[in-house]
Amino acid sequence: MENLFVIVLFWIIGMLIASSIASSKGQSVLAVLFISLVFSPIIGIVATLVSGKKQEVLNQRLIKQGVMKQCPDCAELIIKKARTCRYCRREFRLI
Ligand SMILES: [Zn+2]
Repeated sequence: MENLFVIVLFWIIGMLIASSIASSKGQSVLAVLFISLVFSPIIGIVATLVSGKKQEVLNQRLIKQGVMKQCPDCAELIIKKARTCRYCRREFRLI
């Protein structure tokens, strides 16, 4: 009975680790939780580490948080407070 508790505890901790890695890389947390639950948290962690960052998801997250904005001319991500785009030199008026 104690062994089962330890296994369940490690399973849950592994799932939390896998989901936090997935979240930091912009991957689907639900998919990683599902893989970790059904197969193994170790497989979930390896899957998140092997797959690449989803930069577009991370960019959208930064825009939603109000940290960054997208330059309308060159579409690069720049700091929200910037008055000049660092990539194409477009100037922004502060409102
Ligand atoms: Zn620009």
